Amino acid sequence: MSFKDIRLIKPENLEQLLKKNKFLTYRSKQIQNWARKIDIQSFNQMSNLPNDLIQFLTENFKLNKSKVKTSKKSFDGTIKFAIQLYDNLIVEAVLIPSNKRVTACVSSQVGCSLDCNFCATSKIKKMRNLESYEIFDQIMLLNKESINHFSSHITNIVFMGMGEPLLNYKNVIESIDQITSDFGIGISYKKITVSTSGISKMIKKMADDDVKFNLAISLHTALEKTRNKVMPFSKSFPIKELVDSLEYWYKKIKRKITFEYLIWKEINDDFEHINALVSICKRIPSKVNIIEYNDTDNSMFRNADDKWINNYVTTLKENRIPVSVRRSRGKDIDAACGQLANKY
Ligand code: SAH
Repeated sequence: MSFKDIRLIKPENLEQLLKKNKFLTYRSKQIQNWARKIDIQSFNQMSNLPNDLIQFLTENFKLNKSKVKTSKKSFDGTIKFAIQLYDNLIVEAVLIPSNKRVTACVSSQVGCSLDCNFCATSKIKKMRNLESYEIFDQIMLLNKESINHFSSHITNIVFMGMGEPLLNYKNVIESIDQITSDFGIGISYKKITVSTSGISKMIKKMADDDVKFNLAISLHTALEKTRNKVMPFSKSFPIKELVDSLEYWYKKIKRKITFEYLIWKEINDDFEHINALVSICKRIPSKVNIIEYNDTDNSMFRNADDKWINNYVTTLKENRIPVSVRRSRGKDIDAACGQLANKY
């Protein structure tokens, strides 16, 4: 028999296994429930199970719970958490309070296999994918922290922490299904955004799977030559294929796509880049989120002058493309976009 986390066993298989071992099948549901509670670390704590069942579970399964190792609070209220996994690896996750919202920014991988030159996470090589239950635990831990710190549940979830969610597709989807289910925190799919650097074939797969959450693309430039320079992996994912996949997505899912966009001095601060972005936005119902670049010790990248941010905003508005300029949160504690690198 396998010696794995009980949460990886499908409910129907757990029922069968219980039956085979002369336990009552309705215990399956109880076990599933207990296993997902954030304060339960071992089978011994499942207080309404008979002792022989607890012993059976302990002998055959694990409960690989994650825990908060450290946290750091920014002057702006943002809190960054180092979350320790069962094998002692660490991922980072962030809580961002604003008005009536608390957004949880979560990781999907330990490290990242992509090579975006401007992102601190790319400096730590990918060590492994997170299991679905680890992503689930991460969100449950953040939810508990959110209640403690802000007296509010998490209202939004963004997969904008460490890693590329579409390269850990199955587990990300499973975790989202769980967190929106009875086991989860009563959040709707509409409040969840998955951000990708643009893995076109997986964007098509998501459309085929009819997913119900929002999609954000870390575009940063709509010109192939620049994208290949700042995000070298994208040589395998040409912009044309990316745009085709987004059109495909929109046709099926009918939800506007968000383009995340950084503007750097002497890299994409010119009208050639602005016009390329406009032409993509005209093809795909979308909005543009201009984000402030956060320093990551790479001298090649510097924020463009405000004049160019204004040029982008004005041109997009002239073309009736929704645009917002987002200020960074949690910069002083290295919790802002692109700064998650286990420096704690
Ligand atoms: N791999 C996915 C999920 C990570 S999201 C993706 O790329 O979408 C992290 C977001 O922060 C991305 O939009 C990324 O491009 C952006 N980012 C990375 N480094 C940054 C930096 N130094 N300053 C601001 N944003 C950055």
